[in-house]
Amino acid sequence: MKPLKVETIGDLIDGDYCLTACCEGGCYNSADLDLESLARRLGRDHSAMHDALTPLLRCSKCGSRKIGIRLSANASQKFSTRQGWLTPPKR
Ligand SMILES: [Zn+2]
Repeated sequence: MKPLKVETIGDLIDGDYCLTACCEGGCYNSADLDLESLARRLGRDHSAMHDALTPLLRCSKCGSRKIGIRLSANASQKFSTRQGWLTPPKR
């Protein structure tokens, strides 16, 4: 396990983390965020905390701004299998 020191977008990229955004506005759409393009847009020092990121996000499907984000590790391993939208994990 890597130590969980994740405060900025740059930390996420360097730590090989992955952020998944989930629509909580009713359609339950979810997708991995493109951290590289977020870093280009916001800067690598931009906070990666929920409250700092979610106001910037909007569901591409239903337009809801009620977005949850989830952090997961090993983005590069996941990268080879993921394609665009993901199905929400079962609870
Ligand atoms: Zn939605």
